Amino acid sequence: MQTMTVSVVTPDGTVYEGEVEMVSARAQSGELGILPRHIPLVAPLDIGAVRLKNGSNVQLVAVSGGFIEVRPDKVTILAEAAELPSDIDVARARAAKERAERRISEARQDEIDFKRAQLALRRAVNRLGVTEK
Ligand code: ATP
Repeated sequence: MQTMTVSVVTPDGTVYEGEVEMVSARAQSGELGILPRHIPLVAPLDIGAVRLKNGSNVQLVAVSGGFIEVRPDKVTILAEAAELPSDIDVARARAAKERAERRISEARQDEIDFKRAQLALRRAVNRLGVTEK
């Protein structure tokens, strides 16, 4: 199988770098499946799990938005925040989820706090999701 280099980079540093056979990521326009020699593209990412596949090994990374840049031999994910499952503090993510749910139930739907809480809830659910897989 051909491989490509993948880097997942955040403002705090590099979270992942390695050779993989396939990258799956959730762009704002929909799910992307990237194989080596893909045509170049740049796309904004949604909150979601990035899947890095190498043979039978699949590495998940929780990504909280950003951009994916695809070149034929290299994929770079520039994430606002990104964590490997082993680096996720589950208690913190559960607390963030509960806090966001409380704010959603208390805020009016047209308030900025409501939208902010919805995004916080999605980040927390995404983090919990990658630790469960
Ligand atoms: P919280 O309310 O718990 O801070 P958040 O979704 O607002 O959650 P972010 O602003 O997305 O947090 O991230 C801030 C920093 O904290 C980033 O470096 C991110 O990787 C890290 N981070 C956030 N939540 C967790 C977690 N549950 N486990 C490990 N790192 C986390």
